[in-house]
Amino acid sequence: MDTIPQVHASLGEQELAAVAEVFASGWPAGQGPRGKALENQLAERYGAGGAVALSNCGAALHLAMLALGVRPGDEVIVADFTFPAPAHAVRYVGGVPVFADVRADTGTVDPRAVADLVGPRTVGVIAVDTVGLPADYAELQSIVDRHGLFLVEDAACAVGATYQGREAGALAPVACLSFHGRKGATSGEGGALLTADPALAADARLRSSFGIGSIFDQAQVVGLPIPRFTEIGYNYKLSDIAAAIMLVQLGRVGELLERRRAVAARYAELLAGEELLTLPHVPQDRTHAWQTYMVTLDPRVDRAGVAAELRARGVGCGHGTWACHLQPVYETKQTCPVSADLFRRNLAIPMHAELTMDQVERVADVLRGALRAHAGTGEVREVAA
Ligand SMILES: *Cc1c(COP(=O)(O)O)cnc(C)c1O
Repeated sequence: MDTIPQVHASLGEQELAAVAEVFASGWPAGQGPRGKALENQLAERYGAGGAVALSNCGAALHLAMLALGVRPGDEVIVADFTFPAPAHAVRYVGGVPVFADVRADTGTVDPRAVADLVGPRTVGVIAVDTVGLPADYAELQSIVDRHGLFLVEDAACAVGATYQGREAGALAPVACLSFHGRKGATSGEGGALLTADPALAADARLRSSFGIGSIFDQAQVVGLPIPRFTEIGYNYKLSDIAAAIMLVQLGRVGELLERRRAVAARYAELLAGEELLTLPHVPQDRTHAWQTYMVTLDPRVDRAGVAAELRARGVGCGHGTWACHLQPVYETKQTCPVSADLFRRNLAIPMHAELTMDQVERVADVLRGALRAHAGTGEVREVAA
């Protein structure tokens, strides 16, 4: 029996050829010709005044917090139901992440929860396009405008998604992308910061390279200019090897997303009417990038039992994403009941562009069987957190 992995990156001959060109060029490090080409492509695609290619999305969020001037003790409201990179970024700069609960139907941050959490120390909001589904940016932007706060879009999972006709990654004044191997477009590891504000982009770029300009550029100059360090920067540069891979992947976003969409549509058909789970909901005004396909199991279902059975039958699966406020590192007394509930009941099933429709059918079959086998009778089960 072949196994069906939950995730599988779509990297092939085109990407290999692009890497071979970088090897031949002699400049595999960051901020070289490929990095610059990628930044130009990103700026064009997103209509951004500045695009900075970075080593990962966590670095992009960190640089965003620094460029936006978040100071120790400042509060930043973050979406709760997500990979915890946004809250980590707030902590990197000594800020206090304040966790906002999410919509039960989409898992994206609830604008009403955000509005309720704004206080005298609040400086900004980080919204997340949850596993590829954009948040409610019209409502969020009006809240931050009313209070003079910044808004950052964590579009790590959302390359290719749209909201009210606009691209995810261009839905807030500052956005962060991830090119990690589990995302829809990937260079293995990688990320970018996008912003309409060229000064903010310049600040992030400088801090991404130890606080000096591009070493590649320096080497092209006639004479011997000695760069001066003006910032305690980091090494968050994306290598030109990864940039070359990403340039190919950006060109394939449409094709890869088309295949993910077809998988999502088939799951929706095959699992329709299954009373032991709820399918993902995509509001009319947006489209999903389908980084993950998460279903929400009925409270009577023993999720661990279902997951174990899926894996035993060669179907990859996972819990989906996290309720951040429950992670011990944050030591918060806040509660986000909707997020906590989704964290307990969600199940991620295989979703990637390499799945065949036969495999999708097998996943749905195995899942339906496992749900029957692991549903309690009548009483709602107590599910361990
Ligand atoms: C994956 C992910 C990140 C982290 O991206 P890296 O590129 O691995 O640093 C950040 N935010 C969200 C919402 C993610 O899903």
